[in-house]
Amino acid sequence: MTAQDARTGWVRQVVTYDHARTLALLYVVLHFSRRWVRTVRAEGVRGVAHNAYVSVARALMRLLLKLPANRRRVEREMSTAAGQLEQSLVLPSTVPTMRVLPVHGRDDRWIDKQLDVLQHLGKHGDDSERHWRDGRCSGAVYHGGDELSRVIVDALRRFLLSNPLHPEVFPGVRKMEAEVVAMVLDMYNAPPGAAGTTTSGGTESILMACKTVRDWARAERGITEPEMVVPMSAHVAFDKAGNYFGIKVRRVPVDRISRKVRIDAVHRAINSNTVLLVGSAPNFPDGMIDDIVALGALAKRHRIKCHVDCCLGSFLVPFLERAGFVSEPFDFRVEGVTSISCDTHKYGFAPKGSSIVMYDSEALRRYQYYVNPAWVGGVYASPTLAGSRPGALIAATWAVMVAMGQDGYTESCKQIVGAAKAIERRIRDEIPELTILGHPLVSTFAIGSAGAINVYDVGDQMSKRGWHLNAIGGDAPAVHLACTRLTVPVVDEFVADLKEAVAHSRTKPAQPGTMATVYGLGQSTAVGPMLIGDMATRFIDLLYKLTP
Ligand SMILES: *Cc1c(COP(=O)(O)O)cnc(C)c1O
Repeated sequence: MTAQDARTGWVRQVVTYDHARTLALLYVVLHFSRRWVRTVRAEGVRGVAHNAYVSVARALMRLLLKLPANRRRVEREMSTAAGQLEQSLVLPSTVPTMRVLPVHGRDDRWIDKQLDVLQHLGKHGDDSERHWRDGRCSGAVYHGGDELSRVIVDALRRFLLSNPLHPEVFPGVRKMEAEVVAMVLDMYNAPPGAAGTTTSGGTESILMACKTVRDWARAERGITEPEMVVPMSAHVAFDKAGNYFGIKVRRVPVDRISRKVRIDAVHRAINSNTVLLVGSAPNFPDGMIDDIVALGALAKRHRIKCHVDCCLGSFLVPFLERAGFVSEPFDFRVEGVTSISCDTHKYGFAPKGSSIVMYDSEALRRYQYYVNPAWVGGVYASPTLAGSRPGALIAATWAVMVAMGQDGYTESCKQIVGAAKAIERRIRDEIPELTILGHPLVSTFAIGSAGAINVYDVGDQMSKRGWHLNAIGGDAPAVHLACTRLTVPVVDEFVADLKEAVAHSRTKPAQPGTMATVYGLGQSTAVGPMLIGDMATRFIDLLYKLTP
């Protein structure tokens, strides 16, 4: 027997069928335990235990809800709630309900009359226009003033039917789109060779940034199970991106006091599948800017990408210093930052449907494109989710940006951030029952309870006084206000109403309103989120319900 034969004989003896099975099992065990180790590292033993508890509690609740008596009760309650929701949403109107196309087209006068009624359709006969013009809505309408509205309408009219999918037909639109992107890149101090595209809004900008990094990691790193590390406080569009594009989202907590993402937690959540770290400048819930320098450095060290969400910061953060406010590093000057999203349709004052996503290089931007040379309809190449796009929005965005200029945005930053600071200071000084979370630097801040009162009840009291604040969940219950130009003249009114709301909620608590009920329920771990999710689904159904 030669040495060769001896060796194959040995191999044949050792690697029997049983061994192969054991090895396969071992591989599966290792594979899953590696997943477990990663999850425990990212979420901590307590986090994992908590999540396990929530899963078990939910499964139990789901079982209990299956019992006929319970099911009937829940169904009854949900129907009542949905009925109330419907009444507040699907408003009766004197305008006829159009269920089918009119056989003969209506004339201008008829349409004008109907549109007039629809524009002012509101609850209990009050005027829906007045609702936001009064400055009592948090965020929602980023109005640049009536003069700017005229600029927008003129641009929309001129480019009404243009479609940037056909640049050879609309060369002017192509030029304006390239310039809008270039101007925003410059605002964010992009390096030479940086690149971007316009999108339909902040959500699409974020979706695109995540897809781009996923495709980059697949092509250049061979990562097929991509993950991203996202602060708890970052926008829900990152979860949407994870859901749409098959990227695992690891949400990491923020510091309880500073409200910035905990860098140690980000560090622990990174593993060999991580492709992207995310920071906000600022975030939506409490308006804090994450430690972008630390995030960029971590990303660089792990040779992965780092996205900064400046959708809300948009045209405020780049002008903070010039407007005389304190700022923190947030843009392409920070080492390791590879992409940024910025909403022209927020503090840029462009009409809704307009945002920018930027990358530190053209090479990275290419991973965003969709190119198909084999389609029977012709060679197809498009930069974003949409095919045909509204060139009119690009023209309007361009017109607004050049009408405002650096001076205009510096001034609007002064006013808007000034209003936010004034309200914040007065709350800290004059309303001891409330606190401001963290130390926000921009236009948005969250108001929490200093201990004795239920802040959602205060939110409900503010609703009764005509204010629309957002309820903020998570580890720190709060209501938030995103100041806009419309808030500037109503700072005193806001503080006065807030004082009344606090006094009311201190003297006669209980009698929970919508915000208190919904968020009270949403915070309960077992059934709350399930029921709220069900209601939210019914809410979307209602959006498409015809007026009876
Ligand atoms: C508004 C916002 C977005 C994007 O929202 P859109 O409604 O899709 O424009 C993203 N991040 C933050 C922090 C935001 O405030």
